[in-house]
Amino acid sequence: MKADIAIIGAGPAGLSAAMYCARAGKKTLVLRGKAKSRLELGHIIENYPGVETLPGAVLLEKMEKQAVSFGARIINADAVSLNLESEPKMIGTRNEFIEAGALVLAMGRGVSKKTIHGEEKFLGRGVSYCAVCDGALFRGKKTAVYGSDGEALEDAMLLSQIGCEVTLVLGCSSQSCPGLAEKASGNGIILIENASITEVKGSDAVSGVKIKASGSEFEIPVSALFIISDIPSGTLLKDTGIEVTGKDCVVINRNMETNIPGVFAAGDITCGVLQAAAAAGEGVTAALSALKYLRGLLNKGGLAAPG
Ligand SMILES: Cc1cc2nc3c(=O)[nH]c(=O)nc-3n(C[C@H](O)[C@H](O)[C@H](O)COP(=O)(O)OP(=O)(O)OC[C@H]3O[C@@H](n4cnc5c(N)ncnc54)[C@H](O)[C@@H]3O)c2cc1C
Repeated sequence: MKADIAIIGAGPAGLSAAMYCARAGKKTLVLRGKAKSRLELGHIIENYPGVETLPGAVLLEKMEKQAVSFGARIINADAVSLNLESEPKMIGTRNEFIEAGALVLAMGRGVSKKTIHGEEKFLGRGVSYCAVCDGALFRGKKTAVYGSDGEALEDAMLLSQIGCEVTLVLGCSSQSCPGLAEKASGNGIILIENASITEVKGSDAVSGVKIKASGSEFEIPVSALFIISDIPSGTLLKDTGIEVTGKDCVVINRNMETNIPGVFAAGDITCGVLQAAAAAGEGVTAALSALKYLRGLLNKGGLAAPG
């Protein structure tokens, strides 16, 4: 899929940026990941200018409707890989690659997702967030998929189809995730329900995972672990060349430009004042800077027309 401007994050920062980009006539794509916008956690918001007291989720819905009314497209997908030094910028989801002339990072500060012990160490060496992208590297091998929804089941089925022996570790039970267990067992997948993965084991590459289920902890040998959940922004930005502080805050200037041309950041991910109105304002600045960047590229003839 191609876009003039891709925006990762559908909170106040991302949606404000989307409104400006779409209203300027640009093909604008917003990715909304599994993680909730922090605004949805703020039950009542009474300090967003010009808006009467509202539940955060309602305010967010209004922002989304406004962005969509100008032509922004919102898709439910986590960005799982980034190539930011390329032209166009490449954003990988679990299903496809998106090419964008400019990119706005608006992933917020996340909602306290803990990484598994060993997850970051083995990222790219057996730990992956995307079976479509990396599954074929483990054809015929033992693999584990860890998640709590239909996307985890789909990835497990895909790995099984390409000849992997798959253990699906579900963070939920048959009651809380109805239908998943039946489909998994019908497809030759080993299922462990109501469980969590507590550690990724290995020396140079993944050799196994530690699983906690029914009050006990045990290890199974696998060559790869596919984690199907939201991704901490620090992990997503690792090795992309984007400058971040020790606390994974993206470093920006007044124009919301990062150190990589064509990549902008806005909202809580820049670790400003962590307020919705401030995030929206940064989103607007990031959008205007991205539009200016595209004008520059277009003038140089360096940007392919979006398809
Ligand atoms: C309990 C609570 C109460 C609050 N109350 C107030 C208040 O009263 N007033 C106020 O002004 N502010 C309040 N805030 C702060 C406000 O909610 C945040 O400042 C604001 O939501 C930040 O906006 P954002 O767009 O930067 O990030 P967020 O709103 O957090 O949105 C982040 C977006 O990024 C997406 N995302 C993350 N990773 C990925 C990925 N890999 N791929 C695709 N998408 C991804 C998420 O799905 C989400 O859509 C409150 C926050 C909390 C937690």
